[in-house]
Formats: sequence, structure tokens, C-alpha cells
Amino acid sequence: TALRKAEIKKTKTVCTYCGVGCSFEMWTRDRHILKIQPVAEAPANGISTCIKGKFGWDFVNSPKRLTTPLIREEGRFRPASWDEALDRVAQGLRAVANQHGGDAIGFIGSSKASNEEAYLTQKIARLIFGTNNVDNSSRYCQNPATQGLFRTVGYGGDAGSIKDLQLTELVVIVGSNLAENHPVIASHIKQSHKHQGQKLLVVDPRCHEMAERADCYLRVRPGTDMVWASAMARYMFDHGYADDKFLSERVIQVEEYRASLAPFTLEFASDITGLSVKELTTAAEMIGNAGSVCLLWAMGITQHSHGADTSTALSNLLLVTGNYGRPGTGGYPMRGHNNVQGASDFGCLSNIYPGYDKVTDHAAREKWAKAWGVSPEALSDKVGADNFQMVQEAYEKKVRAMYIIGEETAFSDADSTKVHQAFTQLDFMVVQDIFMSRTAEFADVVLPGCPSVEKEGTFVNTERRIQHFSPAMPPLGDSRPDWQILTDLAARLGHPWRYPNPGAIMAETASIAEIFAGVSYEQLVGWQSQQWPVKADGSSTPLLYTESFHFPDGKARLYPLEWRPPEEREDSEYDLLLNNGRMLEHFQSTNQTGQGGRISSLSPNWFVEISPQLAAERQLKEGDWVAITSRRGTLEVPVVITQRVQGNVLFIPIHHGKPGVNGLTGDHHDPDVNTPAYKEIAVKMQALDHP
Ligand code: SF4
Repeated sequence: TALRKAEIKKTKTVCTYCGVGCSFEMWTRDRHILKIQPVAEAPANGISTCIKGKFGWDFVNSPKRLTTPLIREEGRFRPASWDEALDRVAQGLRAVANQHGGDAIGFIGSSKASNEEAYLTQKIARLIFGTNNVDNSSRYCQNPATQGLFRTVGYGGDAGSIKDLQLTELVVIVGSNLAENHPVIASHIKQSHKHQGQKLLVVDPRCHEMAERADCYLRVRPGTDMVWASAMARYMFDHGYADDKFLSERVIQVEEYRASLAPFTLEFASDITGLSVKELTTAAEMIGNAGSVCLLWAMGITQHSHGADTSTALSNLLLVTGNYGRPGTGGYPMRGHNNVQGASDFGCLSNIYPGYDKVTDHAAREKWAKAWGVSPEALSDKVGADNFQMVQEAYEKKVRAMYIIGEETAFSDADSTKVHQAFTQLDFMVVQDIFMSRTAEFADVVLPGCPSVEKEGTFVNTERRIQHFSPAMPPLGDSRPDWQILTDLAARLGHPWRYPNPGAIMAETASIAEIFAGVSYEQLVGWQSQQWPVKADGSSTPLLYTESFHFPDGKARLYPLEWRPPEEREDSEYDLLLNNGRMLEHFQSTNQTGQGGRISSLSPNWFVEISPQLAAERQLKEGDWVAITSRRGTLEVPVVITQRVQGNVLFIPIHHGKPGVNGLTGDHHDPDVNTPAYKEIAVKMQALDHP
């Protein structure tokens, strides 16, 4: 027994699913994951984990893992050595850059890879190819929320820490199925709500678990949240709930903003949102009377054609009521992927360098050029193409090559038929992943990367917390840590960077990007973590805006808005609205959770939720099959009849199917940030005789 115990390795790791950033010990013997052991010292989660963090690791040893580089030849993939594959990648990218320029290449970094890998991805794009065509999946989820925060308070991150959510008097959850998507945060709130008298207000078209638990639940019409948020801001001014002292001392553009609220009466809001004036008043009184408010939002807000405006409206409401800069207050966009925050923070965005320096800012460009040893002219001052634009430009044959790391773009991008067409038109495509994903099937070269348990690095969770993880086991087969692949590629492209380990990459980033000035692996040992901005002395910022907002004058901005209705609504032919989202047991494309084992078996199939009223109207019963058709395509699913949805609103999980729900979504999007309006789909439904 003593010998068996001695063989067990205990490694601190960080969950690779959602943005809560749970950390725990992983107990392994060789490649066998024996158990996940939570520890009280874990800063984001303590002893809590959810089902995915506890049991969602079968993918690591899946026989479907990529274990060798692959090169496409005569329409088929064949195994290749790393030397041959990397030479092929370097030649392919160079050929496109030489013929069409660096802006003909698009790089999509991974929101599941490490910060250090995100840094190298954007460094290759910017320094070697002179293009800002680099992005990550935040374009498809949280970029509108970040834009709302940029406009109003300055930093693109949660205002406080997860623990603030237990300090607040009122938690407001908007467009977020928290209990399934961020389960550990949801369980913290459930505890505070049940045992500490915390109030809970939920606004959502779908009556999910947190809505059922709420003190007040508003079942809002999809895509109209900007209107109720603005009407409530007006209500605060009109009924003496605006925090005048806070506004006069810490906020500008107050009168201009207040004037912009004139159209947003409760009656107008009721008309647009479908909520009664009484419901709106009750919710407004809850917010106005609360001593502190934390407001959480997610994809139900951001994945619309006006997600940035709605995010701005929510942050405006918090400012009007003085709910920033104190413990237990602030805006909390719930980050989806484990490192979508970090991929953005470390520069995988088309308009910013790591640490949110703008590519259009000459001083910032000079700083980065100097640090990288080139002239400022070597770095592009043009905002690059984001994910959405890269695919559009590939469709138009302007982007000729793409390098995609750990993103299931062929499944997760809206209007997938068009995306597939764009990929087939590319001159050259590289995919770096741990599985032969649907996206990799389009590639010319496939490079096998490693999951986090086989490498070292750091992630940033939703509360801006940087956490270190160590390898629990060696890379599988001939796969390699992604940071090594990128470094080896850079060397072949004439840039022999010397990074002996990921800590050296972090050290370089910290020496250039101010918000990471004091971040170092020495400060991240064991269960230690740091929350950016991190000063040079290593001190973190658990709560933002205590003294000033992140603008040159230190003041927040109230940002006037006009109501823009959703671009796609139901009509006489497409008479239903399709909502979509995640389930607790799965993550996104199921490339990790769908690899067999315990998690896969819990919810292997998809379905469409329809309301009892709609079921009666269409004479459908549980389990009947229906065809759901949008203007882009059709899919066939069995029916689940539930009160979670109401009226003409349907819900389908995003995880399953071929082509999946993105066979129905379109290319309409938020013009401010180019986030596709995934949740604005008008559909029709037809009963099928057989599945
Ligand atoms: Fe992982 Fe999120 Fe679950 Fe925590 S809550 S274990 S980070 S999926």
C-alpha cells in the first residue's frame, strides 16, 4: 500500500472548462487520473467543483487524441514528422504573405490554451507577419460585454472578485443560465441567498434554475434587455434612487445621458419587453433600495445584434445607482471558456496588444516595437480583421490562409454552411488542436497540441485572477505543448526566440504590459494567484475602481444609447424564436465532454424545448420529432415539453448535431463588435412522421 501511495502524483491544476477557474489537485498514477481533490486554499472555488471539473477528464486519454502531425496529400491526411510539418507550415504561410501580404493571413488563438500561448500567437501574427488579424472566441461571447465596460468604466474585466458576489445585498442575473454554465459561482449565490438573506433578481426569457430560486423573476421577451435596463435607469433618476453624490464626484456625461433616457418610460419598456409595468416597478424598487448590487450577465445579453449596447445599458444602470467601487458591487460579465479572459488580456484581439494597449496608439506601438527589437513601422497600425471578419474575408477570397488553434470554428461560428465554404476556398490552412476536430478536417496541416494537464502555464478566470498550472503527465504520443509548437514555428520563420519555459514568456509580457507588471511565476507558486492589474511590487487588484475609473481623468462615463430592435424577428412564415445555450454536462462543441466516459453518457442527445401552450397548439407530445427551419437551414430534433420556455420561444442546446444549431444561425451581427447574433433566429417548426 505504501508503494502504491508513493506512485500517486498530486498536481495542482486549473479546470479547463468554464471561466470560474476552479483549481484543485489532480491525483494521477502514470496517465491514469485517479481523482480530483478540491482544497480549501483554492482561491476561486475552495472545496467546490462541478461535475465537469470533477469527472470531465476522460478526453485526456481518449484514443481519438491527435498524437502526430498530419499533412494533407491528395485529399487525405498522412502522418508526418514535426520537422516536415513545421517546414510545411512555415512555407505555406510565407508563400501567402509574400504573394498577398500579411493581412491575407488570419490567426485565431485559443480561449482554452494558456496566456503564454495566447501571447505567442499574437506575437507571431504582429511581429512576423505584420498583421493584427488575430482574435479569439471572445468575439463570439464576451466581446460585447467588454465593449460595454470599455465605454463606461474602462477595464474589460469583472469589477470585483467572486467573493464579492456573497457580500452584496442584491444579485441581479441577466441572460445567464448560471447554475449550468458557472455552477460553482451559482452555488455560492444559492448559499448566500438561502442563509444570508441575500436577494436575487433574475431576468431571462428562459426559466432556468436560478430563475426558479429568485425573489423576483422577469420573463423578458428575447433581445429586449437594453430597454428595461434603460427604463430602470430613468426610474432611478425620476424616483430619487440615483446616487447623486457618486454621480457628481465620479461620473461624467450625466446630464447628456439622463436626457437620452427620455423615451424609456416604464410603459414603453412594457410594450417592448412584454413585462408588465408592475413587474418592472418591482424590480426597479429592488435595485433602488439595495445597499449594494452585483449584476451578472452572459450570452443571453451579448449574442444579439446589439449586445454591446445592452452591456453598456447594464453598466450605466450600475453607475446611476452608485454600484461600482465598493465591496459587493459592480458588473460581472461571466466569462465562458476557462481562458477567454486571458486570451484577450494577452493580446489575441485584433485591436489590442497584451494588457489592452491599442494597436492604433503610436506610443503603444513604439513601446511594443522597442521591446520586440523592431522599428514601429514593422508593426501594423491598422486594426486587424476579427474572427467574424476573417471568415467573411476568406469567403470573399481576401484572407488566403488561416491558422486556428484549439477553436472549433467550423461548428461554433454562426452560419456554418458559409464558414465551411470559406475554409474550402483558402490557399492554406493550419489547425493546432488536441483532436481531429470538424475544423481540422479542412486543414492542410494539423499539429497535435496538448491539454493543460500535459503542460505548464497560466489561465485568467472571470475575476481577472491569474493562476498557474503544472503538468500532471507527459504529452501523449508525439503531441507537444502549444507554446513549444509556436516557438519552433517562429524559429523556422527566422525568429529564434529563447523561451526555456512558459515562465520566461510571462516574464517578457510582464516587462512590457503595465497591467501585468508584477506578475511572475514566483508569485504564483502553489495556491497563490494574482488579479490584474498587478503593480510592480506584485500587489493585486481584487476590486476595481475603488478610487478611480480606468480613464485619463479617473471618471466613469454614462453612455447615451438609442434602442435598436433585433435584426431578425419572427414573421408570418418564420413564426417562432429560437434561443440556444449550454447544458451542465457538456461544453461547447463537446470535443472534450463528448469523448465517451462518464460525462458523455449523462446527456448524449439533443432536443428542442417547447412550451406546453405551443405543444397543445401544434398537437405535439413529448418525444415527437420536428424539423426546425430557419432562413439558412433545417435540423431535426425530438421535442421536450417544458415550462422553462414560454409562448413562441424555443430552446436547443448548442452541443450536438451535424451541422448543429449553427446550421440555422445567420451572419447578422452586432456592428459595434462583430459578434454574431446567435440568439436572434426566426424559425418555423414542422412535425415529422419519423425521426
Ligand atoms: Fe470547472 Fe467551471 Fe465547473 Fe469550476 S464551475 S469545475 S471551472 S466547469
